[in-house]
Amino acid sequence: MRTTYDAIIIGAGPAGSTAAIRLAQAGWAVALIEKQRFPRRKVCGECLAASNLPLLDALGIGRLFHALAGPELKRVVLMHGREAICADLPPYPGRRHAWGRALGREHLDALLLQRAVEAGATLLQPWTVRAVKGQAGAYQCTAQAFGSRMNVHLNAPLVIAAHGSWEPGLANDRGRKIQAGGRDLFAFKANFAGAQLEEGLLPVLAFKGGYGGMVIGEHGLLTLACCIRRDRLSACRSQIKSDSAGDAVQSYLASECKGVRQALDGAARQGKWLSVGPIRPGIRMPRDGGRFFLVGNAAGEAHPIIGEGMSMAIQSAWLACELLIAEPAALRDARLQRKLMRDYAHAWHAHFARRMQLAAAFAHVAMRPNMARMLLPVLRTWPGVMTKAACWSGKVSQTCCTPQQAPAAPPSTPVEERRFNEISNGENA
Ligand SMILES: Cc1cc2nc3c(=O)[nH]c(=O)nc-3n(C[C@H](O)[C@H](O)[C@H](O)COP(=O)(O)OP(=O)(O)OC[C@H]3O[C@@H](n4cnc5c(N)ncnc54)[C@H](O)[C@@H]3O)c2cc1C
Repeated sequence: MRTTYDAIIIGAGPAGSTAAIRLAQAGWAVALIEKQRFPRRKVCGECLAASNLPLLDALGIGRLFHALAGPELKRVVLMHGREAICADLPPYPGRRHAWGRALGREHLDALLLQRAVEAGATLLQPWTVRAVKGQAGAYQCTAQAFGSRMNVHLNAPLVIAAHGSWEPGLANDRGRKIQAGGRDLFAFKANFAGAQLEEGLLPVLAFKGGYGGMVIGEHGLLTLACCIRRDRLSACRSQIKSDSAGDAVQSYLASECKGVRQALDGAARQGKWLSVGPIRPGIRMPRDGGRFFLVGNAAGEAHPIIGEGMSMAIQSAWLACELLIAEPAALRDARLQRKLMRDYAHAWHAHFARRMQLAAAFAHVAMRPNMARMLLPVLRTWPGVMTKAACWSGKVSQTCCTPQQAPAAPPSTPVEERRFNEISNGENA
C-alpha cells in the first residue's frame, strides 16, 4: 500500500472532498481519509446557496447536482408561532445560477467524493485518522481501517484537516474539557414525503430555545432541521414522554410553529430522526494558521440558522487550495508552507469571521421569544430587511471568484455521463 503522498486530507465532507478534487486536479498525490461509509445521511438543512453553484460546476459535479437537487429557492419566510413573514431571497448575479437549491447530504457528499476519486485522489474509507504528528513539511498521520487494530503510518509534507467539528480529537477540542450546560445546542434532522410546502419557499423557524429550517429537496422530500437548547430539549422530552428525542422535537416544533404543523400535516417521515450534539458554533481558526491547514467546520462553524456551513466549507477549502496550487514549492519548503498557512488564516478571518458573528447574533435573537417578538413588527413593515440579511449572511457573495471568473467545468468523465443518464432516466436511488 502506498504510504507517502503530497497531501493528506482528513475527512470527506464538502470541505475535504473539495480540497481533494482541487489538489488532485492540479496533479498532486492526495490521500483522502474518511471514517464513515458513504452514502450516509447527515444532520444538515441541505440548502446550498447559489453562490456555490459555479464552484460545483468547476469541481465537475454541477450537472449532476442540477439533475438531482430540489426546486430553486426564491423566497424566505420567517415562521414564529402563528406568524409567517415572507421576503424575496436575493438572486446571485450571473445568468446561470441565480438561486440556491437543496440536495440530501447522502447525495451531495457522495457526488463530491466520487469526483475526488475520478480526479485521482486515493480514498481510504472507512478509515479513521487517530493522530497527526510532525509539522509543515513532514507530517505523519496514524490511521486505522474500520475493524482493524493495525495502525498504518502515512507521510506527507502537507495535511489538510477537514474533519468537521462534531467529534473530539485532532483540532476540535485542543485538549480543553468543556462542561455540559443548559445552553448547549443539539441538532436534529428528518426527511418527510408528502409535506405541504409551497415550491421555492425557504422557511426559517424561530422558537423558544432554538431555531430551524425547512426545505424541499430531491424527489419533493422535505428536510426539517433544527437546533435546540439542552434545557428546552429536556423540558419537551419530559412533557411529550417519548423514547425518541426526535419525536419529542417534532411535536414541540409542531406545537410552537403553525407553519411546521401545516407543512407536516399528512406527511410521512422517511427514515429515522438524526441528531448530533452538543454542537459548538464558533471560530476555531488561530490567527497564526495553527498546526495544519484547517478547512470547513474544522476552521469554524457558523450557527446553522443562516444555512451557510457547506458554502463556507467548500469556499474555505477552495481558498486554501488556490494558495497552495499557486506555490507548489510549499511542499518542499516548510517556511513557505507556514507563511501560506498564515496568509490563509488571514484571508479566512477576512472572509468568514463576520458571517459567523452575524449568524450568532441571528441565532441569539431567534431563540429568545421576547427578542423575536420585538423584531416581528419591524420585519412585517420592512420584509426587505430579511432580503438584506440573506445578502449579509453570504448568499450572494463568495470568496473564490465572481460568476464571470468561475473556472470552466472540466469535461464530463464516462462515470459522470453514465450517472447523469441514469438520473435523467429516473433511475437514481
Ligand atoms: C441543524 C443543521 C442545519 C444545517 N443546515 C445547513 C444548510 O442548510 N446549509 C449549509 O450550507 N450548511 C448547513 N449546516 C452546516 C453544515 O452541515 C456543515 O457546516 C458542513 O457539513 C461542514 O462541512 P465539513 O466538510 O467541514 O464537515 P463535515 O460535513 O462534518 O465532514 C467531516 C467529515 O470528516 C469525517 N471525519 C471526522 N473525523 C475524522 C477522522 N478522525 N478521520 C477520518 N475522517 C473523519 C466525518 O466522518 C465527516 O464525514 C447545518 C448544520 C446543522 C447542525
